Amino acid sequence: MDRRTFLARNAAVAVVPVALTTFSASAGARSPVRNPIDFKSNLPAPGDFPARWICGSESLMDNTDPPVQVHWYNDHTAILRQNKAYSYEAPFAPLYFGNERVLLLDEGFTTLRNDWDLRAVVDTCIVDWASRNGRDPASLELLVAFSHLHADHYAAVNQFADRPNTRYMGLTHEEMIGFWGMTNFPEERVTLDLGGREILIWGSPGHVVSEFAYYDSYTQILYTGDMFYRGRCYISFWEPWFESMKRLIDFVDTHPVTHVMGCHVEISKDGEDYPYGLTWQPNEAPVQMTVKQLRETYEFAKTITEPGIYFTGTVFLCNQTRSMTTIDVNPYRYS
Ligand SMILES: [Zn+2]
Repeated sequence: MDRRTFLARNAAVAVVPVALTTFSASAGARSPVRNPIDFKSNLPAPGDFPARWICGSESLMDNTDPPVQVHWYNDHTAILRQNKAYSYEAPFAPLYFGNERVLLLDEGFTTLRNDWDLRAVVDTCIVDWASRNGRDPASLELLVAFSHLHADHYAAVNQFADRPNTRYMGLTHEEMIGFWGMTNFPEERVTLDLGGREILIWGSPGHVVSEFAYYDSYTQILYTGDMFYRGRCYISFWEPWFESMKRLIDFVDTHPVTHVMGCHVEISKDGEDYPYGLTWQPNEAPVQMTVKQLRETYEFAKTITEPGIYFTGTVFLCNQTRSMTTIDVNPYRYS
């Protein structure tokens, strides 16, 4: 899609007169939370990523790892990851807790509960958090959202369809921007209040048209989904992606960011591009990246003038090379 078409489409969505939902601490008739947790002092809230994630196994038939790895980054932040035996995509999914609601970002690549019960894992996390903090888990609203509309990011969304006290994003562009009350995608930045904990959200198209960036003001983690992650960043639309990168740079110029986090890991610590579909990554790179690496990637991107696969030192930029990996340019490939 060329830039003119892209902008024309954006102009079309910009007139959608909706703010279907607003999420603010004052919305609704909720009674104030007793002893609210302070999410605004002593920032950033410290937290840790694991030294090594569960990252598949040589034999998937013998895999005994849990379907979802739950890592508590800190007391109020969990990061989930799908077991690679259930999906080679092994997407990550942050779970942010506030005084009134909980935000789940992305829902993995497996649909059925009897194959992969993401909902039970999320419910267990909510019960754990509520018991640790003296809350009734049923009083917490769950928001089920995602970075973008690819199956490895929302496949399990229907597991939450009949869950009480839950709202989830629709699956069209208009529903997605309407869910956040946006009328000027992608530039508009909105604030989601989880109850004292604010999440900033704005558009980040380029991998696909409808993608969002999420910044958690408590941990100061910037979640960039699939538009910037430690692996093959498949860029379908170069100019919107480049402008989204510029938007991220403008953001980190004006806001403190502890980590930049994408949704997958597809490269080793040494920068090796793992073959597509690999289910065993014993030497995989960490999911989190630095602001410096984001800036370096932006500077690198300025030099790219044509489609191709480029390694920036941190990520692969696959400029309009959907479905290709570095293996496709390997002279030793089977052919
Ligand atoms: Zn993905």
